[in-house]
Amino acid sequence: MKIDMHTHIFPEKLPDFTRKFGYGDFIHLDHHRPGYARMMAGNRFFREINENCWDPEIRIKEYEKFNTTVQVVCTIPVMFSYWAKPNDGLAVSEFLNDDIAGAVEKYPKNYIALGTLPMQDTELAIKELERIKKLGFPGIQIGSNINNHNLSEPQFLPVFEACQELDMAVLVHPWEMMGEEYMQTYWLPWLVGMPAETTRAICSFIFSGLFDKLPELRVCFAHAGGSFLATIGRIEHGFNCRPDLVAVDNPTNPREYIGKFWIDSITHDADYLKYILPMIGSEKICLGSDYPFPLGDLEIGKFIEDMDLSDSVKEDIFALSTAKWLNIDLKDYQ
Ligand SMILES: [Zn+2]
Repeated sequence: MKIDMHTHIFPEKLPDFTRKFGYGDFIHLDHHRPGYARMMAGNRFFREINENCWDPEIRIKEYEKFNTTVQVVCTIPVMFSYWAKPNDGLAVSEFLNDDIAGAVEKYPKNYIALGTLPMQDTELAIKELERIKKLGFPGIQIGSNINNHNLSEPQFLPVFEACQELDMAVLVHPWEMMGEEYMQTYWLPWLVGMPAETTRAICSFIFSGLFDKLPELRVCFAHAGGSFLATIGRIEHGFNCRPDLVAVDNPTNPREYIGKFWIDSITHDADYLKYILPMIGSEKICLGSDYPFPLGDLEIGKFIEDMDLSDSVKEDIFALSTAKWLNIDLKDYQ
């Protein structure tokens, strides 16, 4: 069984939020030719998407080719809209969550939903978290920073406490990459900024002691944890040589947290996956693809199938790790 826990889905029809709210560059869709749409932020072209972004049936046909039977779906991070006024951010989140809930309701064996929250307002975020819990969502997706505030900021703690309380898993996805405005060439925000963003999020969790405050909170970091595992030696050395800068809120060595959170398998590199497997354990690596986007692993873990790994390691990566992260029963998807 293969569950792909990192995929993005989008509503086919999106309200014109900019007109509705009277400000901002909310994303809208320009269906300029059959089967395709341009995502526009105001007048700015963001990216072209095609119907595998919004059509659940087309998606199933595509991912079945790679022996995958279930997709965990969440929105495209550009939709987070954390910059919007709180009630408008809530309205966008509600729309996106209801759209995803519709797909799950129609294809309950093929899709699992991760919700979006208006993280710019702690109270509204918890309100929407409680609502989607009732809709049956097992978790949420949030950005690696919230309007450039690190996830360690105290204002986010009640949201994470509520996630622990309500048994809701968290996927942290890089977005609004640091330094983006200074590295517009060569796709650097995606190639350099995203792995750094994810590392920023993991370090914010560790150094603020969030994993200790919330021992039952289940968090997964996208893109194999960004550059965190590759640079843990440097991070640990920094902790040891300058505790006055690093260990100000948490005296525990950052290396001790490896294995307490999940990562996806999107390394695009069998050797690197082999390197991190004994570090973090197969039970903490979940098959992910970033479908349907070109920077994703669009053969959905074929490189892992081809690797010389034991059946039990592959079973962990392909399904069991995700089942534990989301606290779901795989029988519901067979
Ligand atoms: Zn993604």
